Amino acid sequence: MNGEPDLLIGGKWRHASDGGTRDIVNPADGSVAAVVDEATPDDARDAVASARKAFDDGKWSATPVADRAALLDRVADLLARDKESLAELETRDTGKTLAESRIDIDDVTSVFRYYSRLAAVESDRIVDVGDPAVISRVVREPIGVCVLIAPWNYPLLQISWKIAPALAAGCTMVVKPSEVTPLTTIAFTRLLQEAGVPDSVVNLVQGSGATLGPALTDTPDVDFISFTGGVATGKAISKVAAEHVTKVAVELGGKNPHIVFADIADSGDWDAAVDHVLTGVFLHSGQVCSAGTRLIVEESIADDFVADLAARAEKIRMGDGMDPASETGPLVSEQQRAKIEAFVQQGLSEGAKLVTGGARPSDAALAKGSFYLPTIFDRCDRSMRIVAEETFGPILTVERFTDEAEAIELGNDTEYGLAAGVRTSDQARGERVVRALRHGTVWLNDFGYYTAAAEWGGFGKSGNGRELGPTGLAEYQEIKHIWHNTAPQPAGWFKG
Ligand code: NAD
Repeated sequence: MNGEPDLLIGGKWRHASDGGTRDIVNPADGSVAAVVDEATPDDARDAVASARKAFDDGKWSATPVADRAALLDRVADLLARDKESLAELETRDTGKTLAESRIDIDDVTSVFRYYSRLAAVESDRIVDVGDPAVISRVVREPIGVCVLIAPWNYPLLQISWKIAPALAAGCTMVVKPSEVTPLTTIAFTRLLQEAGVPDSVVNLVQGSGATLGPALTDTPDVDFISFTGGVATGKAISKVAAEHVTKVAVELGGKNPHIVFADIADSGDWDAAVDHVLTGVFLHSGQVCSAGTRLIVEESIADDFVADLAARAEKIRMGDGMDPASETGPLVSEQQRAKIEAFVQQGLSEGAKLVTGGARPSDAALAKGSFYLPTIFDRCDRSMRIVAEETFGPILTVERFTDEAEAIELGNDTEYGLAAGVRTSDQARGERVVRALRHGTVWLNDFGYYTAAAEWGGFGKSGNGRELGPTGLAEYQEIKHIWHNTAPQPAGWFKG
């Protein structure tokens, strides 16, 4: 970054082998936030070879689990120490507000603490096979060399959901952050070294996924690929990996319904419901895989609810994320803003009713950044592309329902299945609806929260596998059954 080498291969920091670099843009003002080395496919192959060698020498996987857990704790301590500088770097890179970045760094710290504790308590299983001479054990072993690929919206958070369990399990790895937002991952990798991660256990490459992808995924030297990003990329990686029968876990997009029942009007929950729908869709300018971008609201309250939402959306203070007065920042790039503008045009041509937004802000102070106004479309239906496709920006679509069955049907009418919200004051209804929804996380009378101790992942095209929780560690482990006969006898099957 800015002259320092950004690739970590075999325990040594180096520049790209062809001297290539990439400008990293601060989306709040279009300035160059940093210049980062851009790896070549050969660099990526070196990184995989380094991780392979480090796994095969067996030192890291043979390190006692208590020592690995202690290392994860040291990482958490260093994250806490560097919280402010990491948060500032994340804000300059992604555009999100400093308050959001601080929450991200706290969450990353919690993930390391959680897997430190979990690694220390997860134990082997003894199986009773009915023969006292036989000791049957099911043991967990590290899966091997992992390639960890992250998206741009939560750069350090997403990669930590992979690095922490991979280290806890005893794997070695090649880390590839998004080429759009690599800065905190570079700083964090230096911090991993400081915490004492042995050379070659963590290798880091930077650059375009299309260029580096084959070197990282089309190889028999990798045992597990954990990918978070878009559906098209997830599919492409899965196809390539299938050639080598490499295990792949993909965490993909979402088009997440937020269902609001009319009973909230009489329960005193109205303002909180409006607030949660607003935050659920417009936080980080909607660039959240679990953003509640589809409001599905009961017809009898829809007009009033949408009016209140629009009034609040118009008051959202946009600005540079470094300014404490900003409530939301820009989109991550000009390219992303162009995508959102195309979706808005699509919505208009499909006949959706624009309630608010649908334009860049007029404030001259924001002219240099990739800002876009919080946008609400009412009178939407599921035939529209803006309802079916992940827009990944500040666009809320509104659909209306008349009874519970229709609400559930609409909520499940998506090829994704990452997250959903349900708002009702009727507990029994709440329970019925959350159980009927086919989504990986469902919030009842809340929205957006998660914890390191509970699994995260999607149904349908939102992906396979799970991160976080005990399953998030198991993804990085192979299961081995050891059958030990302490008093062997002939099998006695063949008589000759
Ligand atoms: P993307 O698919 O364009 O890129 C993701 C990563 O894959 C980047 O690091 C990119 O360089 C790399 N990549 C691209 N092509 C590759 C290839 N052929 N081989 C290997 N790597 C390749 O996604 P994005 O635009 O960075 O992120 C946005 C997407 O991520 C959205 O769809 C969002 O919903 C999803 N996301 C999902 C979750 C989740 O938990 N399910 C979390 C965050 C983001």
